Amino acid sequence: MLLIGSPRHGDRAAAALGSRLAARFEDAAMHTPVDVTERALKVAAEHDVDGVVAIGGGSATGLAKAIALHTGLPQLIVPTTYAGSELTSVLGQTADGRKTTQRAAKVRPEAVLYDVELTLTLPVSVSAASGLNALAHAVEATYAPDATPMTDLFAAEAKRVIMSALPRVAANPSDVDARTDLLRGAWLAGTCLDAATMGLHHQLCHHLGGKFGLPHAETHAVLLPYVMAHQGLDDAAEVFDLAASLPIPHSLAELGLTEADIEGEPDLLRQALHGTRPA
Ligand code: NAD
Repeated sequence: MLLIGSPRHGDRAAAALGSRLAARFEDAAMHTPVDVTERALKVAAEHDVDGVVAIGGGSATGLAKAIALHTGLPQLIVPTTYAGSELTSVLGQTADGRKTTQRAAKVRPEAVLYDVELTLTLPVSVSAASGLNALAHAVEATYAPDATPMTDLFAAEAKRVIMSALPRVAANPSDVDARTDLLRGAWLAGTCLDAATMGLHHQLCHHLGGKFGLPHAETHAVLLPYVMAHQGLDDAAEVFDLAASLPIPHSLAELGLTEADIEGEPDLLRQALHGTRPA
């Protein structure tokens, strides 16, 4: 097995794998840069691995999926954030500062193992941004053109669970019950991400993320209330207030963007630039 993951969780996973461990790779990076994937593919080939285990956030998962795309190797994913990538056949990759996304059956992980204990070390700021990233998957499923009764149910439950769990995790990051709820909400939302086509919000996040190298979860967290207001969703202000109560960036300006950066972009980005409450 090839083990992908930082030492924080990788060391325990390596011990658990024992003699099944053939090699380790610790350099997974956000937005799955293709040069990192090429290095990991080399390690996989050198050690003739017959499977990939990834333990970590969406970055570790993304690398495992990219390896599977090239090799067809089976994957076991152990998620430690709320990104939900472990549930989808979607892979985003970056080359030359451009992010492209594709769907392919062979990138969908064969097995996923959730262990809430692994999320307890996730700092509040990362938990909050990642939780809002999960919420965005549920929100976009509610108005997806291919929404079904199943995605409607999962999305509604994901929204309810995530919005109730996030403040509790922020208040006490060691609260196992709150963490369990948030992970369950992220699972429900990740199922929506795979089953329904993501819309305006994801397009804007990918566009800005790729163009300016913005952090994935934080960009989702900043934009979500503005896209919800733009789409006429009743609970946009509620999501804005929730985000405002969490220790995360609240505007595109806080992520380093300026007026000049969003010239010619949709109007809602102007509000998001300054972090003003959507009407
Ligand atoms: P990430 O994996 O980069 O993790 C964020 C940070 O948290 C990292 O520094 C990581 O080391 C740290 N971390 C992770 N788990 C931890 C833990 N339990 N304790 C302490 N620190 C921990 O970020 P992410 O937001 O999870 O994932 C973002 C990536 O996932 C992006 O590349 C995005 O495109 C991708 N993604 C893909 C999909 C999909 O379906 N294809 C869905 C969502 C996200």
